Amino acid sequence: MTQPSFAELLLAASHEFLIVVDPVSLNIVATNPHADKVLARPNETLVGKTITELECGLQDVFYWSGVSLGQLDELHNAEGLYALPDGDTLPVERSIHAIRMDGKDWILIQARDSRPDIEVTDRLEHATSLLRATLESTAEGILVTNLDGHIVNFNHRFAQIWDIPQFVLNRGRDWAVFRSTLGKLADSHAGRLRLRELVTSRDGETFDTFALHDDRSIECRSRPQLLKDQVLGRVFSFTDVTERMRHERDLANARDAAQAASRAKTEFLSHMSHELRTPLNAIIGFSQLLAEDVPASELESVKAIEKAGGHLLSLINELLDMAKAEAGRLDVTMEIVELNSLCRDCVTMVQPLASRHHVQLSGLPTDDKVYVHADPMRLKQMLINLLSNAIKYNNENGQASLELDMDKGRVRLVVVDTGIGISEADQKQLFQTFSRVGSKQRKVEGTGIGLAFTRQLAQLMDGDVGFSSTPNVGSRFWIDLQGADTPDSVSAATANEQSNIIRLCSASKRVLYIEDDTMSRALLQRILINHPEIEFAMAESGAAGLTLAREMQPDLILCDMNLGDMSGYEILCDLRDNPVTANTPIFAVSGDAGPDDIATALGAGFSRYLVKPVQIPALLTAIKDILDET
Ligand code: ADP
Repeated sequence: MTQPSFAELLLAASHEFLIVVDPVSLNIVATNPHADKVLARPNETLVGKTITELECGLQDVFYWSGVSLGQLDELHNAEGLYALPDGDTLPVERSIHAIRMDGKDWILIQARDSRPDIEVTDRLEHATSLLRATLESTAEGILVTNLDGHIVNFNHRFAQIWDIPQFVLNRGRDWAVFRSTLGKLADSHAGRLRLRELVTSRDGETFDTFALHDDRSIECRSRPQLLKDQVLGRVFSFTDVTERMRHERDLANARDAAQAASRAKTEFLSHMSHELRTPLNAIIGFSQLLAEDVPASELESVKAIEKAGGHLLSLINELLDMAKAEAGRLDVTMEIVELNSLCRDCVTMVQPLASRHHVQLSGLPTDDKVYVHADPMRLKQMLINLLSNAIKYNNENGQASLELDMDKGRVRLVVVDTGIGISEADQKQLFQTFSRVGSKQRKVEGTGIGLAFTRQLAQLMDGDVGFSSTPNVGSRFWIDLQGADTPDSVSAATANEQSNIIRLCSASKRVLYIEDDTMSRALLQRILINHPEIEFAMAESGAAGLTLAREMQPDLILCDMNLGDMSGYEILCDLRDNPVTANTPIFAVSGDAGPDDIATALGAGFSRYLVKPVQIPALLTAIKDILDET
């Protein structure tokens, strides 16, 4: 191997100090520029100095005196200190070798500044400060533990959340910090166990909420601290969630209160419905019966009572329906409905009103059958409302009619009138509950509920309502519904339910009515008086009714659902438990007219559900149907 020449060696670009020493005199005979630049005075050279002026430690002096005596121990990366011209020292790492150049032996020293790279140190310090600042800026309290469960790091927020006193922090003892933390827990025993579990677990994420003595709640999440897939310990983050939990609690309380209020409202509605319908049962029922018997001179008065009762009933129904709609409890039962016969029914029903107002009323101009998806009872209610308005808000000798318009599966039923119309300003207020507009209109009897309710029902049926109107010309109000192709099961509700009943049953049958309202009992007695084929008995209370039922073993029991001493359901259970009455058909009679009430009662085992005020023909039909079966 050829040795490098002096010149080559010393001109080599290097960040190392290269120094050639005469092994006998220990004089420096050559250096590279970097060595002179750093280790000599400015514009001077190290050449000519002895190496011990540079390597001046006691150890170095011993070493070099050994070298000068011919004992060279080569060094590799050995630490040393070089004297600098300004009197300071420079830590170096150096290697010392014997070399042969230009036919002579020399000693080559290769040394380098062994101070840490200042730039790297600065960057490291900066990055560490940034990390610290980030740790301190988080809203969460952070705690880091190692695998032995010792605290490695935490931020001030952690100390703040757990209210750890400064002197505890200053002490720097893990147990003192943990003890201070555990002392705050409402259940410190369970907390201690859980903490031990958390600190010692190596993997998996955890989530806990701790309740503190001072009524605060702290959420704790933890996950493993990983460095290149190696678990170093655990990182815990703590959040004070007291405010959030208080807010959630307040919300839950408010929701419970609202639900309780809604339940109370529903119960009130149901109660009112029963209370209002029960006396109407007597008013309408008796006036219907009286109308059959009274002399012609009194017929008008009786009819007036019946009409007023009917009006009161429709008002109650409207108000209760609206209240239900507002409570979100309005339901529709969708069926395929044949529109023509339903319209005919409605026109027949409002015909008397049209006659009184001298309005000419005409039904659909076609006999073609058109089918829609709708709740037939509710659709009748909507149509009657629009037809009544078309009559009420009309002029004498005006006209009201029905039109049909079909477009791409949508069926539009239009009620047209030649009435007083609605001004543009008033039109904006339509369909709002209790909104009655126009000075002329206000003189007419009404509540301002009908249109708002009609729209709610239409929307429940996947349809809508709309209108156009011109003052002094007339109005068009329409209901849009989804058309139906296959009339598989056309609603029976559109069929005329009236039937002429002469005898309710061929052989003599026994009927028991359990009812605590005197007028309702008297009415049924009066209705059945024309039916000697029925042996009729009544009981004023649930207890008396049960006794009588066991004694007389009736073929049919009619039972009021809200008796003073028992509910209809209790009566039903009692009757079913007794072999004598276990199979006796029972009709529920109630002022609660909600679909839920009806469905629940039928589901429980009542054969029929009769809503007060009971319609006499419907009642007789129901009795006849069931007695025919028994
Ligand atoms: P009500 O008829 O009981 O007042 P509605 O909700 O059915 O309640 O109608 C609301 C208001 O809209 C009525 O009071 C009336 O002012 C107006 N209105 C409804 N239909 C018509 C109509 N066909 N012609 C003129 N005004 C009408």
